[in-house]
Amino acid sequence: MLDKLPSLSETVQKYGLGANKKLGQHFLLDMNITDKIARLARPLEDCHVAEIGPGPGGLTRSLLKSGAGAVTVIEMDERFLPALKDIADVSDGRLNIIKGDALKVDINRELSGASSIKIAANLPYNVGTKMLLNWLTADPLFWDQAVLMFQKEVALRIVAAPGDPNYGRLAVLAQSVCTCQMAFEVPASCFSPPPKVDSAVVVLTPLSMDQRFSNLKRLGEITQAAFGQRRKMLRKSLKSVAGKYGLDLTVWLEACEINPTDRPEDLAVTDFQSLALYSLASDRQSAP
Ligand code: SAM
Repeated sequence: MLDKLPSLSETVQKYGLGANKKLGQHFLLDMNITDKIARLARPLEDCHVAEIGPGPGGLTRSLLKSGAGAVTVIEMDERFLPALKDIADVSDGRLNIIKGDALKVDINRELSGASSIKIAANLPYNVGTKMLLNWLTADPLFWDQAVLMFQKEVALRIVAAPGDPNYGRLAVLAQSVCTCQMAFEVPASCFSPPPKVDSAVVVLTPLSMDQRFSNLKRLGEITQAAFGQRRKMLRKSLKSVAGKYGLDLTVWLEACEINPTDRPEDLAVTDFQSLALYSLASDRQSAP
């Protein structure tokens, strides 16, 4: 039945779906690409997929065609609702549409009862990183996999390793919760209208509970201080957070076996985690 739908371009024309730049609208009308994204999320049969910002519904169609047990789309722009309703009408009750701001929707609650939740999206550039940080810090971590398209520069920052110029706070936070894999790049020319930059798809899979680092707030503060002055040595850049936590910086770095003359890009993700853990332990010791 899904094959009976008009093409995406026809749908866009039929409902007059011009792109609204303020909502980061750049559409993927080539179903070869949306099918490729959906394939990364397989197997989907026993999953409930949350798709953020479906727009005219290209990725939505691909997820349903790939056999997703259920798909819930969250779209802020009501102009897309008729096009999404057309898909729902031929999807055997597998498509649920929520009109709203995905930053405010409690996905875990909306998809409660699902045995496995995956997130898939071609994210709006302006709020993509914020959404990712929300999902990384979700408690409980309700999702089993996320297949997400970002602007390429953000994707590179998520998967970067130490020594890479893209390595920074986002890599440390994301890789403390998930394995992060670059899947493939999508040139700007594949979108309608084309954005100014290329995009890339990243696959995030949560680490097991015992490997996951839970206090992202503290890790975020430390990485912010370190990478906020990324050319400086840690003995300088961490001075103010050491003071904030009541720590002697030399003792702190030594306890974590970190060289004070290192720069933040020299540290592994686990080094930042050691710094955070030590500071949290000393919070507890000094608590009344
Ligand atoms: N998924 C579609 C595609 O690939 O063609 C559209 C992708 S477009 C880059 C981003 C979509 O997210 C738009 O449809 C936009 O209206 C929607 N959007 C932007 N901000 C949103 C938000 N806060 N919550 C839900 N949807 C949002």
